[in-house]
Amino acid sequence: MERTYAMIKPDAVKAGNAGNIIARIEAEGFRIVGMKQIRVSLAQSQLFYVVHEARPFYNGLTEFLASGPVVAMVLEKDNAIKAWRDLMGATNPAQAAEGTIRKLYATSIDENAAHGSDAPETAAQEIAFFFTTAELV
Ligand code: ATP
Ligand code: MG
Repeated sequence: MERTYAMIKPDAVKAGNAGNIIARIEAEGFRIVGMKQIRVSLAQSQLFYVVHEARPFYNGLTEFLASGPVVAMVLEKDNAIKAWRDLMGATNPAQAAEGTIRKLYATSIDENAAHGSDAPETAAQEIAFFFTTAELV
């Protein structure tokens, strides 16, 4: 069983879509190992997205993640990393497949409803960034 870090971003929480997204996660057979609603500080956001530091969208991206509550989750499934990214759909909702979370709930590439880790190493880092082992049940 693989684990991934998943996050419902501020736009989707604000729009009242967190429940729909969590229901979909359960329906698709993921086990929710950890889950909490939190407010990410700007400093945490800048660290979380440090890999994008040199990109022109970095300031907007980090401010957006810190702009309101998010739902942080650890999901478990066979091939959880790819399975969750497939369920989220393409980064740009205009390119996301029908039925994916970003197609359903994202409004733009900047405010795209959800995050998912992109590799085993980043999943381990991101899980540890947001959760203590005692919070993973
Ligand atoms: P995330 O890491 O949030 O799950 P992702 O892995 O699909 O998304 P990344 O390439 O890691 O995409 O980019 C992180 C975030 O930066 C994206 O979710 C998006 O909001 C933003 N982003 C990425 N590329 C662009 C771009 N070309 N223009 C504007 N924003 C972008
Ligand atoms: Mg990414």
